[in-house]
Order: sequence, then structure tokens, then C-alpha cells
Amino acid sequence: MPGPLRVFDSDNLAVPSLIIKKTLEAALSRPFDLSALGLCAECLMKEIECSTITDAVAKLAISACCHLPKDMRNAFARFRTEEPSPVGRDIFSQLIENADIADREEMPICQDTGLAVVFADIGQDVHIVGGDFTKAVNDGIHKGYVDGYLRKSSVEEPLFDRKNTGDNTPAVLHVRIVPGDSLRLRLAPKGAGSENKSVLKMLVPADGILGVKKVVLGAVEAAGPNACPPMVVGVGLGGTMELACILAKRAAARDLDSVNPDPRYASFERDLLALINKTGIGPQGLGGATTALAVHVEWAPTHIASLPVAVNINCHAARHAEVVL
Ligand code: SF4
Repeated sequence: MPGPLRVFDSDNLAVPSLIIKKTLEAALSRPFDLSALGLCAECLMKEIECSTITDAVAKLAISACCHLPKDMRNAFARFRTEEPSPVGRDIFSQLIENADIADREEMPICQDTGLAVVFADIGQDVHIVGGDFTKAVNDGIHKGYVDGYLRKSSVEEPLFDRKNTGDNTPAVLHVRIVPGDSLRLRLAPKGAGSENKSVLKMLVPADGILGVKKVVLGAVEAAGPNACPPMVVGVGLGGTMELACILAKRAAARDLDSVNPDPRYASFERDLLALINKTGIGPQGLGGATTALAVHVEWAPTHIASLPVAVNINCHAARHAEVVL
């Protein structure tokens, strides 16, 4: 009779890693270091070095600030053909030319290269090694903004001295632990012109769909030309006060052509876009039918007595760049 399955060998190493190591060594007829496969020898977790994270974030910073994503570039071309206002069409042509020059010369799309907002989805089977994760991200922001000659827009504290940190750190870092063994980093630099027009309203359920529409339209109308339209409007619904704001930020940073997976919310996104584009604010606030290129809604479960609504507006320089490690 075979003995019971042993989970640990006498050296207290997890059996799967030992089996893989011994199998490889037998096949290769030589010792084999599992770290060569990016695996921790003892637990088989994927290891990601902090230096890899720093280099990746630095590249994302330059890429996001200088190369407008294809989805935005394509939307400019598409909306230019649909925009009835000659001034509006001309602005779209200028935005396309601006994006092309920035792309070619690797120069910032806008002088305001924003606060560095970083979304990190960390796989629960990832082991970050060689330092501190938050520091690794901030080192990447430092390197990207300094090496890329990007404007440094971050101050140490908000009220008294407002001394510039000199390297655009710290990043505004939003971390989620997710299933899997990869690390997804998305950098969405956020300019102040549009960020300053953000809105949060704590509605109650009785305010309903009409109440949400009023908040979103009110935010867009108050923003007007100051948010540098055509905009991408992020709406966060539900959760608590702070969660609604983070949802709105995530919504504003989504790929332009993405659609909410829930058909009810996808339809609500289209309704809101149609309403916003009836305001007549238009490209750069000079009138026209294209005030927004997209409305994205993200939602979360909420309290029976609450209907939080947050609006985060992205300007025409709706930048984002992403890497999966
Ligand atoms: S809101 Fe956007 S386009 Fe306007 S100045 Fe700021 S980053 Fe530039």
C-alpha cells in the first residue's frame, strides 16, 4: 500500500517546487535555479522586482503624457466628421495635429502633465521583492517625469507653503488585490483644469435616475470651457462617499470605447452622453454638438438610504497608459 501523500519534504520545501526543480535538473543534467523562471523556489509564487516596477512606471509616465491613446485619437477623427460647427471641426483638426506632433516629437500633449494617478491591480499570487512597492511606484514617477522633462505639478501640502515636490511625486495610488499572478499598472495623469470641476452629491434613493442626470448635467455645465472639452465624463454611483469618488475616477480613466457590462448602465451611459451633447458647450467651449466624447459609469452596492453620485471629468487630453507585469 502506498503511504499517505506527503505535502512537505524533510527540508520543509513545498512539494510542487521541489518536483519541478528535480524534473528540470534531471532533464538538463545540471542544477537549476527556479528564480530563472521568475518563481520563488519555496512557494512557486511569481516574483516581481521593485526595480522592474520602477522602470515600467517611468515608461508609462512618458508614454501617457506624450502619446495620446489610439482610442482618443480615433474619436477626434470620428467626431470631427459629425460635428456641425465649423469652429468645432477646426478645433478637432487642431487636437489631431497637436496629438500627432506630441507623438512624433515625444513632447507632452498638454503643458499640464497632471498629478500621476496610478491604478495597481496586484494578483494575489504575486510576490513583490527587492524593496517597497509604493516607493517603487514613486521612484518610477520621479524617473519618468524628470527624464521625460514633464512638468512637475505636485506640491508637498495643500494649504500653507505649497512647495513643489520637484519630481511630481507622490503618485495618487489606488491598489486592488485581485486573483491571478500578474501586476497591472495603469497610469492616468490628471490635469487640474478638469479635476477641479469634480462633483460629489449624496442623493437619496427617491432622487432616482432623474436626480443623477441633474447632478451629471450640472457638473458638466458648471465645468464648461474650463474643463477643456471635449470631455470624457466619469460617473461613480453607489458605495459610500469616498468609494463613489474612486469609482468616478476609475470610470474617467477607462478606455474610451469601453462600455459598462450591465446593459442597463450601458444604456444610461448613452442617455447621459446624448444629454450632455445637447448643452451646446462644444469643443473648447466655443459651441457645437460635441461637448463629451463618452460617459462612463461605474457603480457599487450602497446603503438602503443612499444614492451617492460622483462626477470626475477628463479633458480632451484624457491620457492613460497600461502595462501588465
Ligand atoms: S484640463 Fe487637460 S487639456 Fe486642460 S490644461 Fe489641464 S491637462 Fe491640459
